[in-house]
Amino acid sequence: MTADPVLTLDDLAAWSRPGVSLAVLGHPIRHSVSPAMHNAALGGLAREDARFADWRYFRFEVPPDDLPRALDLLHRGGFHGVNLTVPHKVLAFGRMAEVDPAARPAGAVNTLLRRPEGWAGFNTDGYGLAAAVRETLGRELTGAPIVLLGAGGAARGAAVECLQRRCASLTIVNRTRENLDALLALLKPLAGGIHVAGLDPADITARAPAGALIINATSAGLKASDPLPVDLAALRAPAAVFDMIYNPPETALLRAAAGRGIPSANGLAMLVHQGAKALEIWSGAPAGRTAPVMAVAARAALGL
Ligand code: NAP
Repeated sequence: MTADPVLTLDDLAAWSRPGVSLAVLGHPIRHSVSPAMHNAALGGLAREDARFADWRYFRFEVPPDDLPRALDLLHRGGFHGVNLTVPHKVLAFGRMAEVDPAARPAGAVNTLLRRPEGWAGFNTDGYGLAAAVRETLGRELTGAPIVLLGAGGAARGAAVECLQRRCASLTIVNRTRENLDALLALLKPLAGGIHVAGLDPADITARAPAGALIINATSAGLKASDPLPVDLAALRAPAAVFDMIYNPPETALLRAAAGRGIPSANGLAMLVHQGAKALEIWSGAPAGRTAPVMAVAARAALGL
């Protein structure tokens, strides 16, 4: 058995651990480095404060159809907090007893906190993105023209964060128009005068802004055989490229950016900062305090 075994709904149904338990649910979940990151941070907190001695973070393989039952079992089993990853962030939104006002516009939650009556939902992906762009590229979302690739769960959190932080403009590019239009409709009430546009990939040359920060929130790049999510040559003088993918650490998009001398970064720092913010919600420990330990653990878990 590995240090962080992949658990199932059967393990959850039989749950009787007495300590404070946290979990991540996903499908697939085997690749997740969140248990390594969180357990390293909890170990650090426990050395300073005995309150955290019995806190532990587990991962569960949960297909989408089993999500409602998993959330009920986790609550009944006394879990204190839960992270959700692909494909659960949007599916879980409607099952929250309450939703943090900052997460509501995204219609997606990645962090749940136990309340007596059910789960309170939060979204720390946008915080993670903003912190990572600052740390890795030395840039702010505020005031930047943004080209956001993708319209899925991660893109929702990213788009809301860009608007809440008052980016200069937001151009969203997605291959499936229906998904793009659904995101644009969600963002309409948030724009507050910021120019928000949706583009088909074919229109990017003519209509994307110059000097933009390019954020890849598609899953194109996870596999070596994936197409590039955008042709950088079609964009006018991109200022920088941030790819949310962290495994593989260098995607074809990041290689293309390096080849053109465009500053770029992968999604590892985002993973770390969204995780540290989730732990802050559960424990009260400031995200800035646990993020460095999480970063070391995440790199080690990825063999970097
Ligand atoms: P999702 O909800 O499944 O959305 C996937 C998005 O990728 C959709 O917009 C989809 O477009 C697009 N897409 C998929 N394959 C594509 C291809 N071959 N070409 C062009 N577009 C393609 O997934 P998600 O939760 O948003 O996650 C997206 C990515 O972000 C994943 O790689 C995930 O690992 C990463 N992520 C990283 C972090 C982090 O902390 N670093 C956090 C969250 C997510 P259609 O609408 O056309 O299907």
